[in-house]
Amino acid sequence: MVAAYDELLDRARALRESGVRGRYAPSPSGPQHLGNLRTALTAWLQARLAGGAFILRMEDLDRPRVRAGSAAQILADLRWLGLDWDEGPDIGGPLAPYEQAPREACYRAALEQLQDRASVFACFCSRKDVQQAASAPHGAGAGVYPGSCRRLSSAEVDERRASVSRPPSWRYLAPAEEVAFVDQVSGRHVQQLTRDVGDFVVQRGDGLFAYQLAVVVDDALMGVTDVVRGADLLGSTPRQIVLYQALELPVPRFWHVPLMRDARGRRMAKRSGSASLEESRAAGHSPEQVVGRLAVSLGLVPPGAVLSAGELLQSLDDDSFRAALRNARD
Ligand code: GLU
Repeated sequence: MVAAYDELLDRARALRESGVRGRYAPSPSGPQHLGNLRTALTAWLQARLAGGAFILRMEDLDRPRVRAGSAAQILADLRWLGLDWDEGPDIGGPLAPYEQAPREACYRAALEQLQDRASVFACFCSRKDVQQAASAPHGAGAGVYPGSCRRLSSAEVDERRASVSRPPSWRYLAPAEEVAFVDQVSGRHVQQLTRDVGDFVVQRGDGLFAYQLAVVVDDALMGVTDVVRGADLLGSTPRQIVLYQALELPVPRFWHVPLMRDARGRRMAKRSGSASLEESRAAGHSPEQVVGRLAVSLGLVPPGAVLSAGELLQSLDDDSFRAALRNARD
């Protein structure tokens, strides 16, 4: 039986008070490339250097993108690298479940709060009308929502419900004020949502909850104090901050880790088939060699280092870790 939103929130609040809680939140949409693993290593180091708990959450919300066997492979890869976690899909924990699929009731509870406060509105535009991917964390982010359904009267909403055959999506009303935050790696960022993003989707018309809402609910209900993830998600953070505020949830600290580049200088991406751990293993590389390569690329250890994740942790302190991340180049 999955605990309800309020119960998880109470437990999360108590756990958050006990210290740092970090997380890694991979999507099981295919094999992880070395860049993903570098982010995982960074998230693990951040939590462990702070003496905190480390949570693993499987972001399997976007079901059409889930690949069979991918979640198990991710866990096996992380263990092979020498990472461990205190709570996760395979070992459970006080804020279970650590997969998104069974947490839908929590996302729904959050959406209902936003609906009660009129912070969201029903949008009848088709995907084609608005070129904006809702649930993909790395969506193109192209078109800014033009505000077409923002000010529909209730009579107009009823009329559209009757004339448009598919159910509406729900969009969060973007605030006009600038949203500012201080990233632990790259410093202060400011975004004006109405200009840069527009009103954004929190639930798609097909019922799928958007990444932006799910990640906020999950991090809050898992008592996460520190969100460590790839720098490609930096632009999502202001949207998430306004959702935290609207839902009266504590905003975590954010650490956006530079993305790793391949030998040709391109950002690694699952879609472009960047080097997977499987290839490193097939080439006969040991976990220590892979950890060494990842740590060298972040400037955490000198070139040529070969060491286990545990040894890497021992060799760092909070200051050297922060300084290396700040200097790492995207
Ligand atoms: N699941 C996302 C990904 O694999 C990461 C989301 C996050 O860390 O906020 O890219």
